[in-house]
Amino acid sequence: MTVKVGINGLGTIGRRVARAITLQSDMKLVGAVKTRPDYTALQAAAAGIPLYTPSQEEAEAFDKAGIRVEGTLQDLLAKVDVIVDATPGGVGERYKGIYEEAGVRQIFQGGEKARVAEASFSTLCNYSEALGLKSLRVVSCNTTGLLRLICTLHRSMGVKRVQAVLIRRAADPREVKKGPINSINLNPPTTPSHHALDVKTVLPWLEITTSAVVVPTTLMHVHHVTLELEKRASARDVIEALAGAPRIMLIDTGVTGIRGTAQLMDAARHARPAGDLPELVVFEDSIHVEENRVTLFQAVHQESIVVPENIDAIRAATRLVEDPWESVTRTDESLGLTKRLF
Ligand code: NAD
Repeated sequence: MTVKVGINGLGTIGRRVARAITLQSDMKLVGAVKTRPDYTALQAAAAGIPLYTPSQEEAEAFDKAGIRVEGTLQDLLAKVDVIVDATPGGVGERYKGIYEEAGVRQIFQGGEKARVAEASFSTLCNYSEALGLKSLRVVSCNTTGLLRLICTLHRSMGVKRVQAVLIRRAADPREVKKGPINSINLNPPTTPSHHALDVKTVLPWLEITTSAVVVPTTLMHVHHVTLELEKRASARDVIEALAGAPRIMLIDTGVTGIRGTAQLMDAARHARPAGDLPELVVFEDSIHVEENRVTLFQAVHQESIVVPENIDAIRAATRLVEDPWESVTRTDESLGLTKRLF
């Protein structure tokens, strides 16, 4: 069976999910909605992605730019089983009624409120619970990073409590109007930050507190995480659990010389066609265990980490694949996720 998918919003996330769909043997990208005929529209058209506009109103500008438009969002919805909404945070909820009316399954992103979908989704935590649901919300990049770590360690050693400090990138590399450019801002200024609440949309039983600052960089987020386990463990146990898990890459600073996000992204740019790093990166040398308390640093490539989860969310919502690990294998092999960059 092949699931027909459309994308609304072809920005940082939408463009990557679009490309990922074209790499799946069980999905077909029917088209994508663009608001403006900018360079991303030109690239999508050159890549052969059929383009649609939110309404007839925007089509004229595409016509003037010489970009063929196949129709409106409504036309696209009539042709698909699933719509992936990758519009800016809060915009997706405004489209919810239109998607419902068209009777399509919906995959929203982490910038939306949790209420937009029947469940918030993170593959390694709750794939099975999402099977057959009509709407899912793939949690944000930071939350996906936290959940991959927590659910992986919970599976092998039980996690009781988590505390994390998030050092957030200020903007994506292509965003030219965001800051700060010379400050470390508390963002948000209150504790817990919304990230803890977001984690609890998937793991309501977990005790978790998060605080966050935003710093002048565009490359990645970095988290300092403390996890309290149900029983004592050694650093070796933690390393083995992470080494055996999908979508998590251990980086050994002693061997690689990689101490931070600039070198990580440099390595990714030389290893991958788009320079993306959808794996969660855990700095192996930072793993420290005292009795049942683990601390570590991890890095999140915000532009790409949620892409594999979007592909799995499509499979879960449509029941294309019932077994989470089968979906993970299909997704990761097709997208080239690995345990090492070198
Ligand atoms: P973006 O601004 O890069 O892209 C959004 C796209 O939607 C743009 O192409 C824009 O032109 C288009 N758009 C704007 N209004 C629209 C409308 N009314 N109808 C149709 N299209 C419209 O945003 P993004 O960074 O890709 O974020 C999309 C979602 O993914 C948000 O919910 C965000 O929180 C979430 N997310 C973002 C990141 C990240 O780091 N960028 C990471 C994880 C999750």
